[in-house]
Amino acid sequence: MRSLYGKFLSFTTGIMLTSAVVAFLVVNTYYHQQLKGQNDAKNMNIALTMAEYIETEEPADLAGYFSTQATSGYKLFVVNDSRQATLYGAPFRLENLRPASVDKVLNGQLYHGMRDLKTETFMTGFFSDELANTVGVPFTYNGETYALFMRPDIKLLFTEVHYLLGGMVVVMAIVSLLSMLIVAKKLIEPITKLTAAAKKVGEEKFTGSLDITRRDEIGQLAQSFQRMTEKLSENDRMRKEFISDVSHDFQSPLLNIKGYANLLMDSGLPEQERQNYAKVIQSETERLSSLTKQLLLLTSLDQLESPLKPIKFRLDEQLKEVIRKQRWLLEEKEMSLVMELDEVAVTGDPAFLEKVWENLLSNALKYTEVGGEIDIRLTEGKDEVKVAIQDNGAGIAEQHLSRLFDRFYRVDHSRTQQVEGTGLGLSIVHQVVKLHGGLVQIDSKEGVGTTFTIILPKL
Ligand code: ADP
Repeated sequence: MRSLYGKFLSFTTGIMLTSAVVAFLVVNTYYHQQLKGQNDAKNMNIALTMAEYIETEEPADLAGYFSTQATSGYKLFVVNDSRQATLYGAPFRLENLRPASVDKVLNGQLYHGMRDLKTETFMTGFFSDELANTVGVPFTYNGETYALFMRPDIKLLFTEVHYLLGGMVVVMAIVSLLSMLIVAKKLIEPITKLTAAAKKVGEEKFTGSLDITRRDEIGQLAQSFQRMTEKLSENDRMRKEFISDVSHDFQSPLLNIKGYANLLMDSGLPEQERQNYAKVIQSETERLSSLTKQLLLLTSLDQLESPLKPIKFRLDEQLKEVIRKQRWLLEEKEMSLVMELDEVAVTGDPAFLEKVWENLLSNALKYTEVGGEIDIRLTEGKDEVKVAIQDNGAGIAEQHLSRLFDRFYRVDHSRTQQVEGTGLGLSIVHQVVKLHGGLVQIDSKEGVGTTFTIILPKL
């Protein structure tokens, strides 16, 4: 059977049968080693007592005496000198007593048939209703020699107690088998539920919760499965949202490009407008290009294996280089920049960390009005280094702070609505810093300014 339930059942039945066979073999060995001899001796004693009684008391009615013994639970086979036999009690199933054994007893020897009966392999020999399976003793009565063979009448001895005990064993076997069936069903039920749920998850159906309230290992498995399903469902939701965001962000520049390209095809277009349209197409293409680059970067950061190739390098020098590259923008917006940089070496991936500073500095520039001020500080602590980039720009309202690292999340600043962006910059910052084992802190007040502090472990 392939089902767990079937296996459980066959194992249980198998175990019950095996234990019954083993128990039978053990009892059988005990019977052959111990009980057979004891039984023979016990019966021999009884037979000898009978013989002694007859010889000493000489009962007037010998046949009557044997009949009384027969009614009290014995089968007696009495042979006289002339080999004439009389049976008292129920007849034997097999009258297989050898004449030589009779002769031996008549000659004064004892017959240990119960002990010496070889033919019976199993303890069932104990019950074997054969004339050979008796004990035999000689006795004399009125000067004549007799041989008395006897064994207990099992049918008579099988009293109510034996039936009760036998019944008990049968009832026990049936009850335990039935209980096993119920227990197995109960045990396997949650596994069946889990299998069905796993199948649903395999088909990307994440709805419904598992109705398993057990506290054992299966209960724990169900809980873990439930958590895993929730996580998968959340991931699935995020993935779909991400795809829809990406499509949307690609769609609008593409539509713009298509529209302006159509307009450009008009041969009578004045030169000035042609120039303007071409500029729009150019800027939209740049936007698409930067979006693609940022997405590629994020994808590389999402890999299971960290893409970082850490080396030790001077962070203050890297920051100076990033500022140098963006100086023209600072000048264009007539912004002042203050920097205070400790000479600090860190271990990290310089290429990825450069993206962090570029994004933070360009945000500070983008979201600060003309003539604003940017302050960059690099300080070295005992175990970590801190980079704080502060501006006195638009600031971010509190309700947005928790979602700033979400991909494509952007805040509409009424004053800086024209600012271009993808909503991916801070996700990249967060991801890179996280991969370096660091932390991003945001301190911002709408209309006052924002400070991004990156804390990196020194390693
Ligand atoms: P974007 O491409 O829109 O700049 P980011 O992920 O870099 O995307 O930033 C997400 C949002 O956070 C931005 O839309 C902006 O509203 C806000 N933000 C980021 N940096 C600043 C800052 N220095 N001052 C004010 N707002 C900021």
